[in-house]
Amino acid sequence: MADTALMTIPGLVDPVPAARDITPRADGRIDLVGLPRPRIATLFEEAGLDPRQARLRAKQVFHWIYHRGQTDFAGMTDIAKPMRPWLAERFVIGRPQVIEAQHSIDGTRKWLLRTDDGHDFEMVFIPDETRGTLCVSSQVGCTLNCSFCHTGTMRLVRNLTPGEIVGQVMLARDALGEWPRGTMASAADDADEDDEAGHYTADGRLLTNIVMMGMGEPLYNFEHVRDALRLVMDGDGLALSKRRITLSTSGVIPMMERCGKEIGVNLAVSLHGVRKEVRDELVPLNRKYGIEELLAACAAYPGASNARRITFEYVMIKDKNDSDADARELVRLLKAYDLPAKVNLIPFNPWPGSGYECSSPERIRRFSEIVFEGGFSAPVRTPRGRDIDAACGQLKTAAEKKSRAARDREAAPAGVGGD
Ligand code: SAH
Ligand code: SF4
Repeated sequence: MADTALMTIPGLVDPVPAARDITPRADGRIDLVGLPRPRIATLFEEAGLDPRQARLRAKQVFHWIYHRGQTDFAGMTDIAKPMRPWLAERFVIGRPQVIEAQHSIDGTRKWLLRTDDGHDFEMVFIPDETRGTLCVSSQVGCTLNCSFCHTGTMRLVRNLTPGEIVGQVMLARDALGEWPRGTMASAADDADEDDEAGHYTADGRLLTNIVMMGMGEPLYNFEHVRDALRLVMDGDGLALSKRRITLSTSGVIPMMERCGKEIGVNLAVSLHGVRKEVRDELVPLNRKYGIEELLAACAAYPGASNARRITFEYVMIKDKNDSDADARELVRLLKAYDLPAKVNLIPFNPWPGSGYECSSPERIRRFSEIVFEGGFSAPVRTPRGRDIDAACGQLKTAAEKKSRAARDREAAPAGVGGD
C-alpha cells in the first residue's frame, strides 16, 4: 500500500487532514486524471520531452482522457507509436477501483469505490424520466457529525484528490457506456458505433447532472473540488454546463463566496432547522456559523438570482423540525433575507441507531403547503435507492465502521502489540 502522508490545510477553514493532490501509486507511475493541461505538460517535460512536444502531447492526451474516455495509451492513435509505451511506463489514466456495484429496484445505482491507497467511498447514480443525476463524494468520511446523517458517524479519513473526484464522473460514463467510440480521425466511424450503442447521442446522455452531495463536506475540500469541477465544466474536458452542477454545503460560510466566484455552480444549503437549538443539534456546525449569518452569506452568493435560485435542503424529522410554526418561520427567514430560494423537503432516511423518525406523509404535505403559500416552491423529494442504502444520508462505507484501534491492530505485523 502506498504511503499517504496527511497534512493540514492552513488558513481560512478548520484544519482537516488533506491528502496531496495526487495519490501516490505503489508502482510509482503518475495518474494523469484530475490534472489540468499545463500540469500534464510539465510532467511530460520533467520526464524528458522538450517543452513544445510536451505541450502538444499534453493537449492530445487531455483530449483522449476527457473526450474519448481512453484509459490505454496504446489506443491513442494520433500519438507516434514509439511514444505510447514511453508514456505507459511513466503514467496511467486511472479510475477509482470498483469494489461493489449495486442496483436498486427503482433504477438507482450505487458503487463502492476504493482509492489507490486503499480508502473506500461511495457514488450514486439516480435516473429519472428527464435527467440522470450523479451524486459525487468529496471526502472519505466527514468531520461534521450531523446527528441525522450516517456519513457523519464516520470519522474523516481524508479528502479526495481532484482525480478521485472527477474520476467518479468518468467511471459513471464508463458504466453507462457514454463515451464516443471510434477513432478521432473518423467521424463516420462514430456515427456507426453510436447506432450500435443504441442510447448514445451527443446531447442525449444518461448522465446529465452532477450533485456534490455524496460523502463529505465539499467546502472543507474546496480546492480539490474546484479543480475537479473545472475539468467537468471545461469545454475541452467533460463539458458539462455549470447550470447542471449543484454543490451542497452544510454551511461553511467562509468558503461560500469563493465557491460562487471560482466554481460558479448552483448552491444548495443544508438548512434543516430554523431555530438555534434545533439546528445546533442537527447540524453542529451551526454553533460556529449560525442561521442568520448563513442566510446573509446566501443572499451574497455570487450568481444567485431568480433564474438561478439557491436550494435549501430541509430533512423532515418527526417532532423535531416539522411543525406548522417551523414552516412559517422558514418562510419568514427566507423573506427577511430576500433570498431567491427554493426549498427541497427530504423525508428523513432512517439508518440503524439514528434515534430519529421520518415525519408522516400528511405532516410533510402540510409543511410543503405552508412554504408554498409563503411564496417558495417546496417539492417533496422521493427517496431513491433506500433498499441499497443509497439514499441521502445513508452512505457509509463498511470498512470505516471499525474503530481506529481495531484497524491499527489489524494493520500491525504479527508480534507487534499495542493499540
Ligand atoms: N455535506 C454536504 C453534502 C452531503 S449530504 C451537506 O451536508 O450539505 C447531502 C444531503 O443529504 C444534505 O442535505 C444532508 O443534510 C442530507 N442528509 C443527510 N442525512 C440524511 C438522512 N438520513 N435523510 C435524509 N437526508 C439526509
Ligand atoms: Fe457531513 Fe453533510 Fe453528513 Fe453533515 S450532512 S455529516 S456535513 S455529509
